[in-house]
Amino acid sequence: DSGATSAASVIRRHLSPAVANTSDFIAERASGSYIYSTDGQKHLDMVASLGALSTGHCHPKVVNAIQKQAASLIHSQQNIFAATTPLVGLLDRMMEITAPSLTRFFFANSGSEAVDNAIKIARGHTKRQNIICFENSFHGRTYGAMAVTTCKTYYRQGFAPLMPQVVVAPYPYCLHCKVREAHPDGDSWYKVQPNGNPYEARGCCNAPIDALKWILKQQSAPSDTAAIIIEPIMGEGGVLVPPPGFLPALRQICNEHGILLIIDEVQVGVGRTGEWWGHQHVSGTAIEPDIMIFAKGIASGFPFAGLATREHLFEGLSPGTMGGTYGAGPLACATACATLDVIKEEKLLDNATARGRQLASGLVELAERYPILDVRGRGLICAAELGSRGGAASAEPGIAAAVTKAAGRRNLLLCTAGAREVLRFLPPLTVSEGEIDKALHILGESLEEVFN
Ligand code: PMP
Repeated sequence: DSGATSAASVIRRHLSPAVANTSDFIAERASGSYIYSTDGQKHLDMVASLGALSTGHCHPKVVNAIQKQAASLIHSQQNIFAATTPLVGLLDRMMEITAPSLTRFFFANSGSEAVDNAIKIARGHTKRQNIICFENSFHGRTYGAMAVTTCKTYYRQGFAPLMPQVVVAPYPYCLHCKVREAHPDGDSWYKVQPNGNPYEARGCCNAPIDALKWILKQQSAPSDTAAIIIEPIMGEGGVLVPPPGFLPALRQICNEHGILLIIDEVQVGVGRTGEWWGHQHVSGTAIEPDIMIFAKGIASGFPFAGLATREHLFEGLSPGTMGGTYGAGPLACATACATLDVIKEEKLLDNATARGRQLASGLVELAERYPILDVRGRGLICAAELGSRGGAASAEPGIAAAVTKAAGRRNLLLCTAGAREVLRFLPPLTVSEGEIDKALHILGESLEEVFN
């Protein structure tokens, strides 16, 4: 109709073409796991705004908290007042779910902004300059966060000079690990294990840890290195789960050299993996970050982010060095309080674990019929890496996007991840068993269309 045509032409003429869109409908309203578009269609949402919609679309308790807060206090700038009542309520809740050693909080508006502030704290506290990040990382699009983002060239191409003093270390991408031949299980290690638990990490690759030690010896002296920043699971980089020993090894290296460990929980934190935080799954030694960054799921899609640090890290940063007009705003804090309450009351951590296993098992079944090389993730961050039709080693470029398009035509929203052909699932933590079954069914039809 003419309304839709004119909306499409306004979008084409006036919105930045530098924002990539995977679907072309106009969202009008949403509820739970579904989005309704202006053309009357109902879409099953397995992206949840890249993991932000932890409690699903428009959860009634979250909506109610926003409405109530909006009627009493919309905003009060953090540099002017000591705090607001929702901020005090949020601090209580955060202290319950974060490691006891993380006692100081700072709140901002986006993941990128929180990452930039973590870098400021690390440099300000240690008086060192270098930041070590990893291959396949994504930490955001602002200048600081962009400089530690390596998963795709286009995030940084043409924007130099970037923030200096960043060193990129190798990351274990087990499926394509260069030393996989040396692994005792040989080939079978990196193929889907039909009867295995897809969430078991597949062995430990020491090469990246050796490389990091080499970097600290030859390239970035510990006395120059402020922090190592890492996601517990690389999200945008392809849903890459580190081998079990990897994060503890980083913690140990940081301890040895007085380097701060910054864990970016923006995509996998707040219950998505089945624990409150993605780094809490590490077996054996518990690892604790020096700075933990969160955003997305913390406020069900309301713009909000923050970081938690060890007690002494703000020493050396004078008042005024951190702040911002909207950070720690009462509306965002009230939304975050309601979100955390819903996650607890509805036992969404357990749901993330159960639905994640269901999803992964379904993907492993599909791998019997279609060229899925690997199923990986934890809880409700889950991925299937595609191979090629004929079983050739490398997948056809664009094949994952073709599958998400085919799914989109069937009203299933999916996204891709990483530099390879990876389908990514980040459904709301409220997703039901029936919705996961439906998504798997539509995915099967979409794989059939693309591969056969
Ligand atoms: N860190 C991680 C791990 C992320 O996944 C993202 C967003 N995809 C960011 C930081 C940046 O967050 P924002 O888009 O809110 O700036």
